[in-house]
Amino acid sequence: MSLFAAVEMAPRDPILGLTEAFNADTRQNKVNLGVGVYYNEEGRIPLLRAVVEAEKARLAAQAPRGYLPIEGIGAYDAAVQRLLFGSESALITEGRVVTAQALGGTGALRVGGDLLKRLLPDAAVAISNPSWENHRALFESAGFPVQQYRYYNAETHGIDRSGMLEDLRNLPPRSIIILHACCHNPTGVDLNADDWQQIIEVLKEREHVPFVDIAYQGFGDGIEQDALAARLFAQSGMSFLVSSSFSKSFSLYGERVGALSLVTQSRDESARVLSQLKRVIRTNYSNPPTHGATIVASVLNSTELRGLWEAELGEMRDRIRMMRQAMVEQLATKGARRDFTFVALQRGMFSYSGLNVEQVERLRVDHGVYAISTGRICAAALNSRNIGHVTDAIVQVLE
Ligand code: PMP
Repeated sequence: MSLFAAVEMAPRDPILGLTEAFNADTRQNKVNLGVGVYYNEEGRIPLLRAVVEAEKARLAAQAPRGYLPIEGIGAYDAAVQRLLFGSESALITEGRVVTAQALGGTGALRVGGDLLKRLLPDAAVAISNPSWENHRALFESAGFPVQQYRYYNAETHGIDRSGMLEDLRNLPPRSIIILHACCHNPTGVDLNADDWQQIIEVLKEREHVPFVDIAYQGFGDGIEQDALAARLFAQSGMSFLVSSSFSKSFSLYGERVGALSLVTQSRDESARVLSQLKRVIRTNYSNPPTHGATIVASVLNSTELRGLWEAELGEMRDRIRMMRQAMVEQLATKGARRDFTFVALQRGMFSYSGLNVEQVERLRVDHGVYAISTGRICAAALNSRNIGHVTDAIVQVLE
């Protein structure tokens, strides 16, 4: 019998399936709000000018393409640490942060998961309910049982504060807690400074291991503001992990630019942790690719390009906010049978719209507006040409 004869078909990725259906749709005014990328006003994935400038310089330098160190480009890793913890961070000067370049945020989570499995083989992982669908799959693949802690309250379109704290308290001690630093995917609903402090207290008390996922730094309130969770954990004195992604903030999705940072208690601990992290990477993909991280490092380490990037990131952030605001206003003006002001309070690309499965289905079938069945829409896929059709469609499915 053939080796593959009995292999079963894996379940389809629901989001990719949605995109296939969208591509096959022949309606002119179709809109895909199921995506997980930022589109500009023209409906395209932008190529940032800061990136183009850095690429020109890189091409002109005609640099050889040798192997990178296992932990990646040093100047990149250092720049990631400053973005997360601030350029004046004591953690950095004390040698308490270990950073390795990774294959996007996903790669950082996976390498972190594999390292944690060696350190805490019997631990449980907890993710928010709901969460980015790959969180569960990644940590299950790393060999952990994955549970959920309460997070979103559909009634208030806000955080289930008491539920979240209660669940975190009830997990077995030394559980690994995955936390979205900002721009929560899929809800768009974020924790405030007070929430973070309370969470930190519980995590400390239970000796849980925080794993902060920051995939949208700069898409919420600003580069520094969005690092709040990382900064508060830094102040807490705890040991923790952070996965960074530059897929969205640099619009470099396909270049796979991310990083894993580990905060330790001492320089000596850092050296030992780095040696183990390098083993995990070495036996996985040996060392990371050169292009994306070189570009991000050149931008972050040049005053001029950094200024340009911050301006472009600001434009993306402002455009998403404007689209959220426009959506709220249009829905109110068009007499939607529901108050949507909560959409303008959410942060980042995603929005839990509050629409149910049937309404999402009607959006697609009757209006060619594609959203995820949970009601998640990508606010960054709205633009001034498609928003009128989207709000018309939402009003109609609520009738
Ligand atoms: N974490 C979260 C919460 C995300 O939404 C995403 C991307 N959608 C990632 C991590 C992974 O990002 P990357 O594409 O850089 O792997």
